[in-house]
Amino acid sequence: MKKLLSGKLHILSLGCSKNLIDSEVMGGLARASGMTMAERPQDADVVLINTCGFIGPAKEESLEAILTLAQIKKQRGRDLKLVVAGCLAQRYGKALSSEIPEADLWIGTGEVGRIAEHLRRLDAGGTRRKAIVSKPDFLMTSRHERLLPSGAATAYLKISDGCSNRCAYCAIPSIRGRARSRRPDDILREAEILVGRGIREIILIGQDTTAYGSDLKNRPTLSGLLSDLSAIPGLRWLRLLYAHPAHITPDVLEAMAGRENICRYLDLPVQHIDDAILHAMNRRVSSEMIREILRQARSLMPDLALRTSLIVGFPGETQKRFERLLDFVAEARFDHLGVFTYSREEGTPAADLPSRISEKEKDRRRDAIMSEQADVSYAVNQTLIGSVQEVLMEGISDRPDFARVGRCRRQAPDVDGVTYLKKGPAAIGDFVRCRITGADHYDLFGEILFDNYRKKPL
Ligand code: SF4
Repeated sequence: MKKLLSGKLHILSLGCSKNLIDSEVMGGLARASGMTMAERPQDADVVLINTCGFIGPAKEESLEAILTLAQIKKQRGRDLKLVVAGCLAQRYGKALSSEIPEADLWIGTGEVGRIAEHLRRLDAGGTRRKAIVSKPDFLMTSRHERLLPSGAATAYLKISDGCSNRCAYCAIPSIRGRARSRRPDDILREAEILVGRGIREIILIGQDTTAYGSDLKNRPTLSGLLSDLSAIPGLRWLRLLYAHPAHITPDVLEAMAGRENICRYLDLPVQHIDDAILHAMNRRVSSEMIREILRQARSLMPDLALRTSLIVGFPGETQKRFERLLDFVAEARFDHLGVFTYSREEGTPAADLPSRISEKEKDRRRDAIMSEQADVSYAVNQTLIGSVQEVLMEGISDRPDFARVGRCRRQAPDVDGVTYLKKGPAAIGDFVRCRITGADHYDLFGEILFDNYRKKPL
């Protein structure tokens, strides 16, 4: 029998929702091995930082957080152990382990499932290797009991990991490995477990969710998975993120349009609209294909909420090509939009491309897109005034003029705006119907019509 661990673990999870799930899996494995959780690093025996490292700003944020923890460790002395996991560790762990000696162990993304062994070894007095970076091929299953925040009503569900697309600017395939889909029965099992634990909204994620199943023997489809998941009793909202435009198919849109509990919300990261840039990015999709997907999706679901992400300043993005993108932002009228400035990442094909854009110009282009999108979001949000929306309550608001906060189906957590209400249930996870009475660039404001569960006015 394996030795039980003692002591307290604090986990700091940086980056995206995919990384968050890895943190929850590692937390669950540590807890199953006997550890308890500490709210603050100061109260922990081991601090685990799960880093992000796919572009420059994410790497800087991760490094800063590691150095802050290293400082806390110095103040506390040798009894606090510091473990660095995740994308930055996978990419640079071997080099950084000698530069940041305060960290006791660096483990890559392939080591998530072996976290308990690593913690045991640390507990027993250390490890011979300070950086353990293996092939990134870990894929969680429903047997991993994730450590979810208590009282959570929303949970992400990873349907696949890794990516085989090789977009020219992206380091993720080398950090996360090739695309690996989970078996549909295992995903369904996990969804049932999550609903059994009180989760009301499940958000399907992966590096490229629309490539789901293409690596599995019997080629299960994403549309089939969506339909099966939507039949789980008690699952109120099912949402899909990261739909690569090159892989989305009409049956996915039809599943979204045809099932009441699948949110009519499409996250379609198009990255650019100029054909030469799309080609140089190796996105395997044309501007016409992107426009056709938007046409199809909107004709099937006139009430669809759309999100996208863009990259400005990719090598070769002339002023004219950038203006095409700016015009597209006004034309496409996305509800939500995020912009990254191109980050030159070593080891990616785009790192060697000529015609680079200066950082100053990239920032100018990002600001121009955001300013255009602010007008679009404001106008789109104004059209929602008077509409009735179902809202998932998320608790007490931080605004003095609105007591409660939640999200409607058009709003994904963390990346989109929220819906503020003057009154309503404070319990996280309650659903209410509300009429939208106001809107600004990002958020909606509403008043409750009646409580869905008790069917009575509040
Ligand atoms: S689809 Fe492209 S951008 Fe997204 S993770 Fe894969 S390679 Fe990177």
